[in-house]
Amino acid sequence: MKKIGVLTSGGDSPGMNAAIRAVVRKAIFHNIEVYGVYQGYQGLINGQIKKLELGSVGDIIHRGGTMLYTSRSEEFKTAEGRQKGIEQLKSLGIEGLVVIGGDGSYRGAKKLTEHGFPCVGVPGTIDNDIPGTDFTIGFDTALNTVIDAIDKIRDTATSHERTYVIEVMGRHAGDIALWSGLAGGAETILIPEADYDMNDVVSRLKRGHDRGKKHSIIIVAEGVGSGVDFAKELTEATQLETRVSVLGYIQRGGSPTAFDRVLASRLGARAVELLIEGKGGRSVGIENNKLVDYDILEILERPHKIEENMYQLSKELSI
Ligand code: ADP
Repeated sequence: MKKIGVLTSGGDSPGMNAAIRAVVRKAIFHNIEVYGVYQGYQGLINGQIKKLELGSVGDIIHRGGTMLYTSRSEEFKTAEGRQKGIEQLKSLGIEGLVVIGGDGSYRGAKKLTEHGFPCVGVPGTIDNDIPGTDFTIGFDTALNTVIDAIDKIRDTATSHERTYVIEVMGRHAGDIALWSGLAGGAETILIPEADYDMNDVVSRLKRGHDRGKKHSIIIVAEGVGSGVDFAKELTEATQLETRVSVLGYIQRGGSPTAFDRVLASRLGARAVELLIEGKGGRSVGIENNKLVDYDILEILERPHKIEENMYQLSKELSI
């Protein structure tokens, strides 16, 4: 392989830039030319493709977002759209593509590979919802943003003796809620992977209140439903003063943590190695601190799981 491309697609996540940098530098290290595809799959269709040099990815390792920009493309979901994209790549002599993104982007990468164009997926999403890796790029940074918010809200919650409901992102996955709840000492964590009983939530709150607790923090994963609706229900059931904070998009931005930068560097470089080895249709990941890769199709069919014992622990530590 003499020329490869790299793109970011779907929702951005902190560390995508570090992954792009790793792809570019690793490829150049192996005397392979690298092309950046701007604005995801839509940019691929439109031919927004530029050659990247060592310096093109200078000074980005610490920046959130993605220097290649990203987009969502309906056209790419059609076979004609994908064919146009492949023609754009072929016209430049590009033989393989690294796709950095979430599960939607993976589906696109899988389709391209089925059309005969080798792609390797790098898991870039704050949600940590891609199977075949312990962590996705951006999860750790998002988690630290959430922790910072929880700590600040805790100050107010204590001062005013209130209950706070904090809604966090994660789409259908409860990882951000579970990890941030455990790290932030939340009294209750609601995640889509586990059912909850309102009576149980209320009795926990009352128990804490009766033993003189000044505040309570409840983390609600967006996959469970609206934090605002949950807070209304809770206020009716407890008559305790409840406030809601929906953290929203602050969770997607910011400078990536050291962990995310290292993860992105390792995964981005590994993706290039796989293309060099002629392996398309793979997804790279990290398991027990070792680099792994799996068939993209197989990854997409695996169910997402949370650490059951961590969920149990969060309950035990917040009695
Ligand atoms: P994410 O990658 O963050 O999950 P999306 O789900 O929005 O984000 O997917 C990003 C893009 O990937 C979509 O806009 C579309 O262009 C492409 N994509 C998603 N699903 C498919 C599919 N089934 N076939 C082809 N392309 C897809």
